[in-house]
Amino acid sequence: MTAPLFNRMALIGVGLIGSSIARAARAQGLVRSIVATARSVETRARVAELGIADRVVDSNLAAVEGADLVILCIPVGQCGAVAEEIAPRLAPGAILSDVGSVKAAIVRDVGPHVPAGVHFVPAHPVAGTENSGPDAGFAELFINRWCILTPPEGTDPGATDKLATFWSALGANVETMTPEHHDLVLAITSHLPHLIAYTIVGTADELEQVTRSEVLKFSAGGFRDFTRIAASDPTMWRDVFLANKDAVLEMLGTFSEDLATLTRAIRRGDGDTLFELFTRTRAIRRGIVSIGQDSDTPDFGRPHEKLPPLPRPYMADGE
Ligand code: NAP
Repeated sequence: MTAPLFNRMALIGVGLIGSSIARAARAQGLVRSIVATARSVETRARVAELGIADRVVDSNLAAVEGADLVILCIPVGQCGAVAEEIAPRLAPGAILSDVGSVKAAIVRDVGPHVPAGVHFVPAHPVAGTENSGPDAGFAELFINRWCILTPPEGTDPGATDKLATFWSALGANVETMTPEHHDLVLAITSHLPHLIAYTIVGTADELEQVTRSEVLKFSAGGFRDFTRIAASDPTMWRDVFLANKDAVLEMLGTFSEDLATLTRAIRRGDGDTLFELFTRTRAIRRGIVSIGQDSDTPDFGRPHEKLPPLPRPYMADGE
């Protein structure tokens, strides 16, 4: 039997992402023991009840004691303060990582608190759902999803490689890039889509000409697909937009120009412009399916019920 990759993994925050890491790391035998903590008594009690960590402790400081891998699985806006809090107890040689959806702000806020001899390797698993909390996690969350590492300049390559091995063993494909490039890529692939979903759902909710019950009733026309994204955790997403302000504003500028082009095409009855764009976007969807980042099941795999039996008057004579 091979030795686990890490002796003791400390998870600060055990929500969707932290609890998924715990479940997957244990299933793969990657860590000898898992120590976990969360901010509230309720979450800590639930984590203990679920049994997804070997030990649940009631402070961030106690959690990191003696750990050779520490992962911050908390909202981006909390990472700086928590790094400052735990810094005195981080073990020499330990790897300190995170899972935040924004990276430059994490490097800026956490980096200065990392003691000499501790390896800081920020990470972002590009995987998730709209649910939160320890019950929402599952071991398979990261399979065939990307995990982006953004080690600051001068990081020990051995530490980066070790964390890459960890994420690969959780099923992820690992890529390394600068924090700034990560933030630009994610601004268009994740942050802007969330902003658009939040806007559409908010706009529909405030309409005067169409009632809220009509919006809900006829949502299968497209609206409901936005509501899944717009149901994402408000704390997490508030922090993402505050922390990735510049990249989001840059992408939003480009998006607004493209929206203006479409608005003009609709106003002028320019069907060619609309048709050409819709043809290109359809190809992008097919590309995502063909590289295995989504399944090709129609209607996102929603089950469809059987046709109902015909009412009596429509039955043929003699039946
Ligand atoms: P979540 O389900 O809401 O869990 C957050 C956890 O952090 C909770 O256990 C919470 O404890 C704990 N926490 C918050 N502040 C804390 C503090 N100061 N000290 C200790 N624990 C604290 O959130 P999540 O979806 O797992 O997201 C966590 C991180 O992953 C975020 O940075 C997010 O950007 C990133 N991420 C999320 C997704 C996604 O789709 N959700 C995908 C990739 C990356 P309580 O329950 O007691 O408040």
